[in-house]
This record gives sequence, C-alpha cells and structure tokens, in this order.
Amino acid sequence: MSSPISFIPILTYHQIAPAPPKGSAFRSLCVSPERFKSQMHWLKRLGFQALCMRELMPYVRGERVGRVVGITFDDGYQNNLTHALPVLKALGFTATVYAVSAMASGSNIWDAHLGVAQVPLMSEQELRLWHEQGQEVGSHTEHHVHLTQCSALEAQEEIRRSKSSLEGLIQAPVEQFCYPYGEFNAELASWVQEAGYKAATTTQRSRVGVREGLDLFTLPRVPIVRSTMWPQLLLKLLTAYEDRPRP
Ligand SMILES: [Zn+2]
Repeated sequence: MSSPISFIPILTYHQIAPAPPKGSAFRSLCVSPERFKSQMHWLKRLGFQALCMRELMPYVRGERVGRVVGITFDDGYQNNLTHALPVLKALGFTATVYAVSAMASGSNIWDAHLGVAQVPLMSEQELRLWHEQGQEVGSHTEHHVHLTQCSALEAQEEIRRSKSSLEGLIQAPVEQFCYPYGEFNAELASWVQEAGYKAATTTQRSRVGVREGLDLFTLPRVPIVRSTMWPQLLLKLLTAYEDRPRP
C-alpha cells in the first residue's frame, strides 16, 4: 500500500454532558460541556477547520488538502443539540450525528442492561433541527444492533431502512454510516456501500491515513473521552499517538 499523503483525525464523541456519579457505567463517554467548548476552541486556535463527514470526504479522498478534522457524535443524544450545537455554530464548525433511526425520542436502551444511565436521544423534530442548522445526520442503524450477530437480511435491512427513514425525516440524503459497537466485517462494509452510503466509520483507533485505495467504509477514528485533557488532544491531533498498533 502507498504511504499516506496526509493524516486526518476523525474525532468520536458520545454525550456532551456533566459526568454521572463516580463508578457509573460508561461514565467516560460523557465529555463535559466546558471541556467540549475548550477542545473546539483549541481546534480553532491550531488552525483546524472541523467538518462533518460529508464535508470531510473530499479531503479523505485526497481531492483536497487542508488542516481539517472530522467531528462525529455516536447515538444522537439530545445533549449534542443543547451543548454542542451552540459551540459548533459559534466557531463555524460542522459535525455529524449518527442517529439510531427507530429510536428518536427514546433513550440509550441498548446500554440499559449494563446499568448505563438512560438519557434522551434527539426527537425527530430535534434531528430535523440539527440538519436545518447546517449539521449532518448520519445513520447508526435502526435499533443499535450488533450487526455481526444479525442474519444477512436483518443486517441489510438495518443498514437500508435507517437510511431511508432518516432521509424521509430530514428530506435530504443520508450518506454516512457508523457501525454500532464498532462491529464490522468486509461483508457488512460491502452492504453499507451497496445501500448507497458514501463512507462508514468504525471504533478502530487511528487518524485516517489518506492514500490511494483507502477503504472509505472502514474509516478509523480518534476517541475523545471525559478525561481527555488538552495536551492529550494535541497529541491525538498532531502526532502518531493514535496511529500506533494496539494489541
Ligand atoms: Zn452507538
């Protein structure tokens, strides 16, 4: 494989909210509103333009070069709208929310058996608002399923139906996909492509090394968690910190 011509970090966020009590499950996935704001200002200060996946694609495909970073939010929490949107708008940034299409107005029920605190997901109206405010809605399946454990038909329907129902909702193309739990394989990636998506993200950790023949349907990302402080953010953005092989 050719060596990368550039490296693009795609940041993964979940909730933008104060952390639940110590010891709570998945507490690390809540980045506080203050810290999120400070991180976005760091991006600005460093000269990065933060982009949703749709706007990032020309850079990922190597057609454009620039100091860009992708911003993604998994699951579609309501607190992305309340706490992240004002910050993004103030800085002229865009981001992609990967929504669970059949669960608008619901909660992260798929995590309930792990004792994870239940918090509201955006309603249909809120997803529409997110889109109308210049942000992107992508798909995270219909029901936040383990795609690798679904039958072929179930998996294909989760991939296809979430796209069409979100498109009906926002009246615009939904072209970005994110695998729930980061579970994917070559077959799933091919179905995502056949369904008409332009790219898909995983939870594999790395910046995207832009190169010829890059697989757009298994893009790695850079996780940002509650404890990510700014020096670490800089390492994740500007160095090979995330790109090193992990066991
Ligand atoms: Zn998820």
